[in-house]
Amino acid sequence: IGVFKESPKSFALFQISPKPGILFQDITTLLLDPKAFQDSIDIFVERFKDKKITVVAGIEARGFIFGPSIALALGAKFVPLRKPKKLPGEVIFEEYMLEYGTDRLEMHVGAVQEVDRALVVDDLIATGGTLCAAIKLLERAGAEVVECACIIEIPELKGRANPIAEKVRSNVKRQ
Ligand code: 5GP
Repeated sequence: IGVFKESPKSFALFQISPKPGILFQDITTLLLDPKAFQDSIDIFVERFKDKKITVVAGIEARGFIFGPSIALALGAKFVPLRKPKKLPGEVIFEEYMLEYGTDRLEMHVGAVQEVDRALVVDDLIATGGTLCAAIKLLERAGAEVVECACIIEIPELKGRANPIAEKVRSNVKRQ
C-alpha cells in the first residue's frame, strides 16, 4: 500500500468536524495550494514511474481528484470506480462492508484487460475496506494490482493489516 508516512514535502491538511464527535480529514485545503497539490501528484508519479502502470483506477469521489493527473503523467489510462448506478454502460461490481450496512464499487466491463497493471488511487485509507473492494474488482477483470496510493492514512484503523492489502505488498516485493 503506497501510503507515504513521512513525506519529503509538507502539505496543509486540515481536520474538520462536520458533526460533534466526528473528525473528517479534509483534502480540499490541500487543493487550495497549487504547489502542495502539484507536489502531492509528483510524489506519486516519482514512486510509480518505473512500475509499468497501464491503468490508474480512481475511487469515487476523491480518487477522481488525484487519479487523472497521476494517470496522465504516467502515460496510463484512467478508470473511474464508481458508486452504484452512476456508470452508463454494463458494469461489474464488488460489495464491501461499511460501519452500518454495505456499499459497492462499480466498473465498466472492458475498461481493463488482463495485460493491465493497475494503480488504485484514493484520498484516504481507514479500515482498507474500500481499497480491498477496488483490488478485488480489478483482479476479477484480470488486471494485476501493483499498489494502492492514498494521501492520508488513519493508522489506528490498521487498513494495511487487511489480508488483501498484505497480498498487494507481497506482490510488490516480488518485482
Ligand atoms: P475505508 O474503506 O478504508 O474504511 O475508508 C476509506 C474511504 O472512506 C475512502 O474512500 C475515503 O474517501 C472515505 N473516508 C472515510 N473517512 C474519511 C475522512 O475522514 N476524510 C476523507 N477525506 N475521506 C474519508
